Amino acid sequence: CDEEIRCIGCGSILQDKDSKLSGYMPHSAFNKMIQEPDTSVYCQRCFRLRHYNEITPVNENNDDFLRLLNSLGNKKALIVNVVDLFDFNNSLITSLDRFIGDNEFVLVGNKVDLFPKNSKESKIKDWMRQEANRNGLFPKKIFLLSAIKKRNIDELINYLATKGKNEDIYFVGTTNVGKSTLINAIIETRSEYKNLITTSKFPGTTLDSIKIPLNEGHYLVDTPGILSKKQMASRLTGSELELVAPKKQLKPATYQLLPGQTIFLAGLGRIDFIKGPASGFTIYVARDLYLHRTKTINADEFYLKHKSDLLNPPCDNDDLGALKGQLYSTSEKSDILFGGVGFITVPSGVVIKAYTPEGIGLGIRRALI
Ligand code: GDP
Repeated sequence: CDEEIRCIGCGSILQDKDSKLSGYMPHSAFNKMIQEPDTSVYCQRCFRLRHYNEITPVNENNDDFLRLLNSLGNKKALIVNVVDLFDFNNSLITSLDRFIGDNEFVLVGNKVDLFPKNSKESKIKDWMRQEANRNGLFPKKIFLLSAIKKRNIDELINYLATKGKNEDIYFVGTTNVGKSTLINAIIETRSEYKNLITTSKFPGTTLDSIKIPLNEGHYLVDTPGILSKKQMASRLTGSELELVAPKKQLKPATYQLLPGQTIFLAGLGRIDFIKGPASGFTIYVARDLYLHRTKTINADEFYLKHKSDLLNPPCDNDDLGALKGQLYSTSEKSDILFGGVGFITVPSGVVIKAYTPEGIGLGIRRALI
């Protein structure tokens, strides 16, 4: 068949030739689809993901995505960069500026539902703007929302509704930021279709562009996410992600610490209290993640001894890389960021050293709470 038929879950061109490539469907299902062209079809990967929550790896690379980003500069479009508030620095596309020419872009921070109850949205937005600016990005507008809880979505829809009259709207983002969930939520408010695009906790679900018609002949385009090696989500297995990625609103756990003490966030993070008065460190991570307090002088030995049992996840430390540290000295109450895992609020006037595998996802910001 010469005609291109695409999976409505991930946008890949459907094919029955190679089960290792995207868009694969078994021959029988493929034939059935050709005979009944009106039915909505999913590739085998999306089908499994939707029905059994099971991920099938495919051989993809970022070339197509970069090609698409490159083409944006040549057309009039509104770019919506969706980022994960829990992995902000790793999910921000810092090269966006190079690609989009004179087009405007807006920044959408997703998963705000995970922030503790008393966080201030204005503070989160300020932090997003500062970080974007620091990376040479100047978003026209910043939205803060929860695609899952449908919080603040109307504000974005109203904005897009006026913009979509004049130009196509491109949703870009690294994988796992919730782009598909967000687009599904937008489609749902505009039509009777529910959960049309395949979403999952696994990075790299959306494999090719998906075009959704808006009014006046313009489109909303869901682009495949880039798989960022810097994202914790791209390094962990499905069951590890299940445990690590916060799903419910974060509840603080405060530890009273003295200098010379260390806390492990399973095998995914470590914080050493180096200097400062005895203080409370408040930890915001997924509820089931194992936390362990020990003396800093014993920490290396403890890690080596327990990295493959107590300090799980990750179950394969060698794949993720060794813990690498970064020193921070605070001049105000600050959040130490462990991208994709959570954050720890530390007081002003302390020196700490924070670690993650290869140092990925480490950062600091003025405390949000
Ligand atoms: P995509 O790769 O960017 O398209 O991301 P998906 O839409 O597939 O979502 C990735 C993961 O993030 C899934 O586990 C979603 O359930 C989760 N997710 C998406 N939106 C939200 C949100 O608003 N809040 C929370 N807590 N999780 C979300």
